[in-house]
Amino acid sequence: MDDWQQQLRGSLSEPEDIAERFGLDVDMVRRIANSFDIRITPYYAGLIKNKGDAIYRQIVPDEAELAVNSGASDPLNEDNDSPVPSIVHRYPDRVLFLVSHSCASYCRFCTRKRKVGDATKINPRYIDDGLDYIRHHPEIRDVIVSGGDPLMLSDKKLEYILKSLRAISHVQIIRIGSRVPCFLPQRITRPLVKMLKKYHPLYMNVHFNHPDEITSESSRALNLLADAGIPLGNQTVLLKGVNDDPMVMRQLVQKLLSVRVRPYYIYQADYVRGTEYLRTRVEKGLEIIEAIRGWTSGLAVPTLVIDAPGGGGKIPLLPNYVQSIDNDKVVMRNYKGDVFVYPQVLSPSKFRTHKKGQRPVMATTNELQELHTLI
Ligand SMILES: *Cc1c(COP(=O)(O)O)cnc(C)c1O
Ligand code: SF4
Repeated sequence: MDDWQQQLRGSLSEPEDIAERFGLDVDMVRRIANSFDIRITPYYAGLIKNKGDAIYRQIVPDEAELAVNSGASDPLNEDNDSPVPSIVHRYPDRVLFLVSHSCASYCRFCTRKRKVGDATKINPRYIDDGLDYIRHHPEIRDVIVSGGDPLMLSDKKLEYILKSLRAISHVQIIRIGSRVPCFLPQRITRPLVKMLKKYHPLYMNVHFNHPDEITSESSRALNLLADAGIPLGNQTVLLKGVNDDPMVMRQLVQKLLSVRVRPYYIYQADYVRGTEYLRTRVEKGLEIIEAIRGWTSGLAVPTLVIDAPGGGGKIPLLPNYVQSIDNDKVVMRNYKGDVFVYPQVLSPSKFRTHKKGQRPVMATTNELQELHTLI
């Protein structure tokens, strides 16, 4: 048996074991497990240093999950954009393809917890319908293989999916979304990577939320993927008590670059039922972007997005660098707060005419100087 299968077999998932290991009430854990599976790999559990720390809060169940008076079961209204059970088709040219119901560990804040862990909602028998849907929609040029976690499938099942997608001529790129390099890095084996690299252009988005998750094991896994020519991006979820601290987030994005992972998105936590205790205010996300942009490599700066409740898709948020835009100039500030002016290309009303019939010319240098002194 491979290392990773041993890890899965040894995972904490029985309410009795979880309650004992973390000193929780077993009835409470049972009630939580009834609505959303619990699983923690021994490897990931080993990263917990203290009860309630950043690793702990992501995967150990919390009584607050039982609160039902906030959040939605399908906050992004994905089911509305789901023509067949395995497909979410929201954007013009790309789809999510849900191929696996399980994950190596279950994030307590999961947006898709209404489906994840539930084999009646995401099931291999829906995979062929999904492939058919993609085949019959030539506008789909980008397929994001997701779930659950696609890397929970055997190499053989995963290869069937990738090979079938590659056989569709309009599918230009394939992306895999996976948290396995974080939860179960042992799954990233040489045979897996050898198989994946046959299906280029293949991208992978991984999911790390805290610098402590970048260990020697996960670095090995990420380096193996990068060596196979798979461009790696990272999606982070902004979570209270996990990474809602500009210095923690800056360390995370810098560490990611050092293992050849490009920070891609920071998500404001979705409005999911039973996750209120992990959400932050939106100002926190903006504060974090402010603390990264300009202060460290531009490559390290992800895009902060809110996946709009109700199904509007991802909406980017940026701190206010632009203070004003008018006909003459743009007034903006840099990362340190210093103010600068950029002169606009002048609009027709600002052009001077020398003589009747002559073409208008640009403002003089003096006039531009005047604009500079306006602020
Ligand atoms: C996030 C997402 C995508 C991919 O979005 P990108 O901005 O292209 O990374 C596609 N479909 C759905 C439904 C998504 O939620
Ligand atoms: S790995 Fe992704 S799909 Fe799985 S529980 Fe975490 S957030 Fe949900």
